[in-house]
Amino acid sequence: MKNLATLTNLKGKKVIVRVDFNVPLKEGKIRDDNRIVAALPTLQFLIKQGARLILLSHLGKISHKEPAKVEDEKKKNNLQVVAVRLGELLKQVVVFSPDTKGPGLQTLVNGLKDGQVLLVQNTRYEVGEEKNDATLAQAWAQLADAFVMDAFGSAHRAHASTFGIPELLKKQGKPVAIGFLVEKEVKSLAKVVQVNPSDRPYVAIMGGFKVSDKIKVIDQLLAKCDYVLIGGAMTYTFLKAQGKAIGTSPFEADQLDYARGVIAKAKGKLIFADDYVVSDAFDNPTKIETHEGEIRGAMMGMDIGPKTIAKFTKIILQAKTIFWNGPMGVFEKPQFTKGTEAVCQAVRTLGKKAFTVCGGGDSAAAVAQFGYMNDFSHVSTGGGASLEMIENAGHLPGIDVILG
Ligand code: ADP
Ligand code: MG
Repeated sequence: MKNLATLTNLKGKKVIVRVDFNVPLKEGKIRDDNRIVAALPTLQFLIKQGARLILLSHLGKISHKEPAKVEDEKKKNNLQVVAVRLGELLKQVVVFSPDTKGPGLQTLVNGLKDGQVLLVQNTRYEVGEEKNDATLAQAWAQLADAFVMDAFGSAHRAHASTFGIPELLKKQGKPVAIGFLVEKEVKSLAKVVQVNPSDRPYVAIMGGFKVSDKIKVIDQLLAKCDYVLIGGAMTYTFLKAQGKAIGTSPFEADQLDYARGVIAKAKGKLIFADDYVVSDAFDNPTKIETHEGEIRGAMMGMDIGPKTIAKFTKIILQAKTIFWNGPMGVFEKPQFTKGTEAVCQAVRTLGKKAFTVCGGGDSAAAVAQFGYMNDFSHVSTGGGASLEMIENAGHLPGIDVILG
């Protein structure tokens, strides 16, 4: 595996590190610096070797197709605050380049000393970033002697900074590698992509909002798993597809055929809820009840019910491998956390008896919010990327370009 251990003689070498500093901001301040903290081991390793670091990251979205918005979005998604925070965490000065390319950036790169760190402004300021523009990739690649990919959350995108640069450097015979963060993701997710007979039963738990977002994931998991438990809002599309009443619950009319098809071919692997916590309104509900089998009247499903929790828990406790994506209910509201927390609790009870992975932005947020981060073998840092890893049998463009 082309990991950091394969990079040698780094002293004085200029190394581009693609990091994921796409942190949540509020009024220009960093709301959660987890992603910066998560990059530290790789950065500290490279600093210790005397490398000169050029860090690239995107931050938020810049709608280049709508020019009227661009200036505002650039102001909103300015990476400079991250340079300040990174400096505090590394306990050394982090130089910031307001220029994303050209002579200004080149001068700062030339001025780097061994072990120094330069953070470049948001890669998405460049219109060519998301198009993997060859000229842009070349402008960045020529700055460096080596490249490290440590932005797992961006590895499913073949952009100039995640794909173009390593592709060029590799062609030039220059070393490329994955960082510690990506290495852990790759190793952990590989265990839920390819499961040995001795690591079964393999139980997947699917929830979240939309069936349509997760079709490929569900198909892949049905092929690999012994059981696929279905909770969350996607439940109602499956219920409706079976001709059952769902009250005012959300469902996807254009996914009913798909849902019927999945049920027909799943042959008992698919496990649905038997009861539901329902309410009369999404916001400020005045009536909360538990309904069994169907959802009656003008009520909407908000969480799985107690019988379902017991059934799901029993199956989870027999597992040797777990992949979980998607909350079981509207966990952001205190009345509807129980289903999602019960999954966390079952994983805690399993402890080391199983290899347990949580992937997905909101699912990982729920695990953190309820205080179960240390109970999982792995909580993925990449929402979309972890799902695409499952969909594509372990392959992502930003990782394949390095390891392939
Ligand atoms: P992830 O980011 O982990 O892949 P999703 O984005 O698919 O998960 O779904 C997360 C969202 O699904 C959460 O905001 C949660 O409130 C919502 N959700 C879960 N269950 C329900 C439900 N029964 N009704 C409405 N929304 C739900
Ligand atoms: Mg989500």
